[in-house]
Amino acid sequence: MKVLVINAGSSSLKYQLLDTGTQDVLAKGLCERIGIDGRFTYKAPGRETVDAVSIPMPTHAEAIQAVLDALVDPANGVISSMKEIDAVGHRVVHGGETFASSVKIDDKVMAAIEECVPLAPLHNPANITGIKACIAVMGPEVPQVAVFDTAFHQTMPPVAYTYAIPYEYYENDKVRRYGFHGTSHKYVTQRAADMLGKPIESLKLISCHLGNGSSVAAVKYGKSVDTSMGFTPLAGLPMGTRAGDLDAGILEFLMKKYGLDIDAMLNILNKKSGVLGVSGVSSDFRDLSKAGEEGNARAALALDIFSYSVKKYIGSLAAVMGGVDAIIFTAGVGENDADQRMAIASGLEFMGVKMDPDANNVRGKEAVISAIDSKVQVLLIPTNEELMIALDTAALV
Ligand code: AMP
Repeated sequence: MKVLVINAGSSSLKYQLLDTGTQDVLAKGLCERIGIDGRFTYKAPGRETVDAVSIPMPTHAEAIQAVLDALVDPANGVISSMKEIDAVGHRVVHGGETFASSVKIDDKVMAAIEECVPLAPLHNPANITGIKACIAVMGPEVPQVAVFDTAFHQTMPPVAYTYAIPYEYYENDKVRRYGFHGTSHKYVTQRAADMLGKPIESLKLISCHLGNGSSVAAVKYGKSVDTSMGFTPLAGLPMGTRAGDLDAGILEFLMKKYGLDIDAMLNILNKKSGVLGVSGVSSDFRDLSKAGEEGNARAALALDIFSYSVKKYIGSLAAVMGGVDAIIFTAGVGENDADQRMAIASGLEFMGVKMDPDANNVRGKEAVISAIDSKVQVLLIPTNEELMIALDTAALV
């Protein structure tokens, strides 16, 4: 089946056309500056690359049209007609408590996704715009599927998702832990079970999605039972520019002292904190490693805070599950940064984690990076959210 995967942001749209049978990416690319002046990028194996060319894109509809035009282009395309696209899978950030799995989109589903807008006011409206644009351009007969970042974590028990604030905020306003990166955590834990040759229903796994945004998840017998992100993706680990967990009292202190309103405060916590905030150098771990090696103490501290925090979460999630069979590293940092993986895993020997430094000297491909006699397997598994979205979409269609 050929599935078009769409990840729509407010002014951008990432796309991939996948064959779910062979799991091959037939074409992929990006529409940027939608609503501004429009830039289009297209890549397909054996075809000419289109690199950030100007195409007018006043709305997401023109962006989708540009994608379809490129896919069916006689010289450079990969399909002969739009009819070859069997379905479209959309990444949707927030499914609230309504969606515990992916779902085929109809009017009722659209209304329910709209109801989740207050929970993700920046992301869900863009995702909705993407879905509407696809229906408008492709017609109602092409099945559209929503795959939610939050859905995989809907198996968390109340003890993991309930915040210790007045209960009516949960009952009336749905304030609770939701967790994010669900598609990634689901994909890598399924791959881990395959790699270990064991049914996922028998495994206790800790998935570390470490990228610009980072989260860890405890996946017990195939179900997410706890995760570090919360009501929003601001919680948990310190990230590229996000603060992660912090004492809520700090907000009051800083807001009063510097006369900040809540938007200014949240801008600091979302955009100017994390490893960027501590280091003052960069949100990119490559820059931080370089600066650290050159003697920048704050860059080194930022890296240490990150690995310390991941380690702390691994310990707590292992406690939650009563043990762990395998720890998985994925996403930009998890897949590429051997030093971070080593720093995170070292000191966990007490719970049966023993790394193999040579095996850990690897980037971006599936590998066992723990020692042969390690009780807990440590795995590197490149994430593939697009493939997960395409497979979910194919299964539903
Ligand atoms: P992601 O959000 O998963 O795309 O991850 C992006 C982040 O991965 C970047 O901001 C970098 O910090 C990190 N990253 C990518 N490549 C490397 C690398 N070779 N070494 C260390 N960090 C990397």
